[in-house]
Amino acid sequence: MDVSAALHLLATDQEKNPVLPTQDVHLSGLPVPAQKITDDKIKDYLSKIRHPDILHPTDIILAEKDNQLLVTIVARFQRLYKNIGYGNFGVVSFDNALKIARDYPIVGEFTPAELEFLEMIYYRNARDYGFYGEKRVVKLTQHINKKDIYKVPYSGNYLFKGSSFAKYEEIKKDLGEEVLLTSGIRGLVKQFYLYLNKVARHDGNLSLASRSLAPPGYSYHATGDFDIGQAGFGNNNFSEKFIGTPVFQKLAAQGYVEYRYQRDNMLGVRYEPWHVKL
Ligand SMILES: [Zn+2]
Repeated sequence: MDVSAALHLLATDQEKNPVLPTQDVHLSGLPVPAQKITDDKIKDYLSKIRHPDILHPTDIILAEKDNQLLVTIVARFQRLYKNIGYGNFGVVSFDNALKIARDYPIVGEFTPAELEFLEMIYYRNARDYGFYGEKRVVKLTQHINKKDIYKVPYSGNYLFKGSSFAKYEEIKKDLGEEVLLTSGIRGLVKQFYLYLNKVARHDGNLSLASRSLAPPGYSYHATGDFDIGQAGFGNNNFSEKFIGTPVFQKLAAQGYVEYRYQRDNMLGVRYEPWHVKL
């Protein structure tokens, strides 16, 4: 998306949100020049994206009753995760997840209220939250075919056979053993879990969570992108500290750095130097 298109979206976003204080009139009561408004909007936007975990005045937050529901849903996803394991949880479809939950009392069936909530989250346009990425999974019932994917040894993660796995293999061949696949395919269920878990940890803030994790349906991990890291670097692989690692340095030197979410991108997503675009 080019900057003018992004600015238009930002402007539309502001128009849609009546809670925003209008910036069209200066405290003096006189209108402020148009250029000034744009600069302020951009500055505010960039500061929001550079500090994704800080509450922003325009953030959309869940109602209290939905927060209760969120807690039970996240707990149910966690039980499902334990029941089927890390690898399967990454690729299980929404329908299969519901079936497994129903069949295993240790997980427990999703209640009608929980399902209604999940559908509300899935079908809501993420632009409402300030996330401007594309929708990647256009059906709630989308299924990942096991024959199309490959479980990468020692990573617990799957990648799509074909260009996604080939790209990983190429990186691995050039960079050697110190490069890790830290996150591969993430189906809708995994993305629901990661996103909602983040929302739950931040007081129901749907916008804040969307600055670090694509809302379910919007993740490129569902269609071939993946995350890489430095062996032995743990969770720091998902922080800007990753830039200082030999793996990142080599990636940059060898021309692999063509990232989905650049610094100061206009998509509403934090800088993710570890995320490899297919
Ligand atoms: Zn990623």
